[in-house]
Amino acid sequence: MASDLLSQVRAQETALRTIDWALESGRVHHAYLFVGPDGVGKELAAFGLAQALVCERRGGDAGPGLFGAAEKPPVRACGTCSACSRAVPREDTRRSHHPDVVVLERGLYTAQQIGRTTEEKQDISIHQVRTLVLARAAFAPHEGRAKVFIIRRAEELNLSAANALLKTLEEPGAKTHFILLSSQPEALLPTILSRTQRVRFAPLPDDVVTDLLIAQGVEPARAKDAARLAGGSVDAGMLLADPDESETRERFVESAFAATASPTIEQVLALAESAKKDKDQLPSNIAALASALATRAAEAARAGRPDAEALAIRGRFALTALEHLAGNGAAQLVVEAMLTRMRAV
Ligand SMILES: [Zn+2]
Repeated sequence: MASDLLSQVRAQETALRTIDWALESGRVHHAYLFVGPDGVGKELAAFGLAQALVCERRGGDAGPGLFGAAEKPPVRACGTCSACSRAVPREDTRRSHHPDVVVLERGLYTAQQIGRTTEEKQDISIHQVRTLVLARAAFAPHEGRAKVFIIRRAEELNLSAANALLKTLEEPGAKTHFILLSSQPEALLPTILSRTQRVRFAPLPDDVVTDLLIAQGVEPARAKDAARLAGGSVDAGMLLADPDESETRERFVESAFAATASPTIEQVLALAESAKKDKDQLPSNIAALASALATRAAEAARAGRPDAEALAIRGRFALTALEHLAGNGAAQLVVEAMLTRMRAV
């Protein structure tokens, strides 16, 4: 279904005001950094801005709506022209099919596509920047309107890739725009930070997360429970709402409690070892542990029990572990460090 993606972004008024103003004034910055937690709409907004920049009919016949006012700001994409529908990322490839809306992301392309001999696993390599960005820098947009480069998890640009990008970020060709997405802007090079305009995306309110989960087919009661623990992120909410994963999560939480209480460190080592095998599941396991600790801490505090503080501190250690994981920390080491710290409380 065709649509204008900016109009689908929820509860990010400040960010949308910045974007709409840029479109309206014709002063769209050449390099944005959209920052905020994952799953709050950064990517949707980035593709929405890209749509507006390549749209064939923007500002055209948007006209007043039924109620006398424009139904959406006319500065946004029409949402229905061919360029608008091709700018949307495809579910299977996670890339757009518009030649002027180009996505960079670690591992998104095969080695062959970006001229490497090995697959890209650790970070966004210089090969992506060379093939996708620098090789096109001298050319006008294919369809004339704009070239937009969207970089997912921009903190994963390795040093040489980031350095290769710097000059283009500073002096991009005409009609060229970069939108860097990051939940960890502090991990970006200062030289990248100073060349980009930051737009902040906040965690979503729980009721918005609930709505969005329901819209994705999650049963309402489960959506509400998941949203409460999701920290304002639809991505986290989807993981938490997945019934297939809930049993594994419960097992992980139990094992973590047992490992923390055990007099020896064997269980810590065993759980850390198994974390290495379930790497993909680990963030939602640790999120569940953090929320279990928070719930227990709140119960203990209400009952006036002395262990409330220790439980709360352990909950914070779990959240720190999540950040380390998101920053590409090695699963086994992150779990081992987290449980060791929890035991010491
Ligand atoms: Zn359009």
